[in-house]
Amino acid sequence: MKQPYLFSLMLLLLVVGCQPAVTAVIPPPITPSPVPSITPSPVPSITPSPASSPPPPQPPTAVPTSTLTPTPTTTATPAQTPTATPVGPCANRILADDDLWAIVTQSYGLSRDYAPTDLVSLNDHLGNEVTLGYPIELRAMVVAPLVQMITDMQAAGLKPQVLSGYRSWSAQSIAYNKWASEFPGHVNIISAPPGYSEHQLGTTIDFGSPELPLYTGDPNLQFHTYFYKTNEGIWLLANAHRYGFTLSWPLETFELTGFYYEPWHYRYVGVEMATMLHEQGLSLTQFQLVNQPEPCVP
Ligand SMILES: [Zn+2]
Repeated sequence: MKQPYLFSLMLLLLVVGCQPAVTAVIPPPITPSPVPSITPSPVPSITPSPASSPPPPQPPTAVPTSTLTPTPTTTATPAQTPTATPVGPCANRILADDDLWAIVTQSYGLSRDYAPTDLVSLNDHLGNEVTLGYPIELRAMVVAPLVQMITDMQAAGLKPQVLSGYRSWSAQSIAYNKWASEFPGHVNIISAPPGYSEHQLGTTIDFGSPELPLYTGDPNLQFHTYFYKTNEGIWLLANAHRYGFTLSWPLETFELTGFYYEPWHYRYVGVEMATMLHEQGLSLTQFQLVNQPEPCVP
């Protein structure tokens, strides 16, 4: 990594919020579902409509957020279509250390005071061929399953890259403000506001693929919707749940989460939860809004 300019450019893209700066999203034709076009020319409204119907009543035995063991009896049914509903401010939403299932969307954020207490350096566990030399931190519990998954991917002939992990509230704030000054009408397409990035949890990873330039034609673009076309993206979509990772922002959930499709962005939620989501065809947010207590908005 002795190319300062290139490194800086790539690092900037990482810090931004893991969305490409240019042509942030190109909707791929991978599902037949009637998803509206997500061409990012207009500024999307990311505030849930108060007029929308409230989510279904939560069962009295909803999964407590402090436990890591998924409870099969409270799993959401795929027929339900939860809708994000605005809730009052909550200034002191501090997550318990073991809360793997905290809700984060562009409506439900994290306190600026929250930072994981068990961050470790991933660079001590994965080589530069995976991290590309970027300093990356993750919560300790994520490291072993991630290293195992990377090892298995490499054994299958793939070349996965881990491009981003933990990002602090202040780091996200700096990046967001920079983009807001340059693209005031489109900043929420380019970057999550501080407090509204799952990367603040320390359990979320952005993956990369050396195949991406084959599809984008741009060797400097590390995040692009076409990641889903790469062999690494295909493998992750089919197998990441077996290691406890789930795709946070699938194509279908923009209306619910406020996040555009990010096929490279995976969050660790534990094998049981990830497998349940995979088998039921649910995103974590879809499950959370039905089964977890209503979140706060900081
Ligand atoms: Zn990301």
